[in-house]
Amino acid sequence: MICLQNISKNFGKLPVLRNIQLEWRAGSSYGLIGPNGSGKTTLIKCILGLAIPDAGTIHVDGQVIKNQEVYRKKIGYMPQIGRYPDNMTIGQVINMMKAIRPDVTHVDEDLLRAFRLDAMANKRMRTLSGGTRQKVSAALAFLFSPPILILDEPTAGLDPIASEALKEKIAWAKENGKLVVITSHILSDLEELITDIVYLHEGYVRYQNRVATLMQDTGEMRLSRAIAHMLRAQQAAQPLPAA
Ligand code: ADP
Ligand code: MG
Repeated sequence: MICLQNISKNFGKLPVLRNIQLEWRAGSSYGLIGPNGSGKTTLIKCILGLAIPDAGTIHVDGQVIKNQEVYRKKIGYMPQIGRYPDNMTIGQVINMMKAIRPDVTHVDEDLLRAFRLDAMANKRMRTLSGGTRQKVSAALAFLFSPPILILDEPTAGLDPIASEALKEKIAWAKENGKLVVITSHILSDLEELITDIVYLHEGYVRYQNRVATLMQDTGEMRLSRAIAHMLRAQQAAQPLPAA
């Protein structure tokens, strides 16, 4: 459903993505992991058309995305940092988004209710805490029931109750055949949510696999330990290329 071929991106002299090859299928959920600065957000922005790769091709649902925008209707995006007009209320932001998508007749307001955002509809965006902003971003990503969900560090900054509500919604999305991509540098947040893992490091995809296979191959019980195990083995066999 999303296919990246030979994607490279530099910011000035800094190579941020290097010859990325990925194929992501509907009904699976992918954990895009890696240390801060490894290129996760840039990779996502390339898929959304918010950053333009220097080389390579991206297909979404069979279509090359270059110079296109209609495909973005298929993607619900929760940005790492959501930016909204300061003086609008939560209710106004949500109604504005609905007005932009009159083609969608059924909206999914599960998260609005779970996060009790309906009770805060009159609060202005500038007065919101970081966590509440995150909730607005999450609710908007799911609002139009898109077939693809891309969530950039979704649980960072959420309180435990909100984080659980969001995780339940992500699990529901995966079980209902959607393609889910979640970036995180906190591995424990991804446990039980993802079917596949993609590990980015300095712009390279260093490792990708089904989570079930990874756990079986390493004999570990926890995702973080399994990944550490795999990376150590890989490093021993094949040292990182010079940056
Ligand atoms: P991650 O999401 O994995 O933390 P990012 O994709 O945000 O990583 O960043 C990867 C690298 O690219 C970092 O070194 C970051 O400083 C750099 N970078 C990201 N966006 C820009 C930009 N707009 N201009 C210049 N450098 C950028
Ligand atoms: Mg990021």
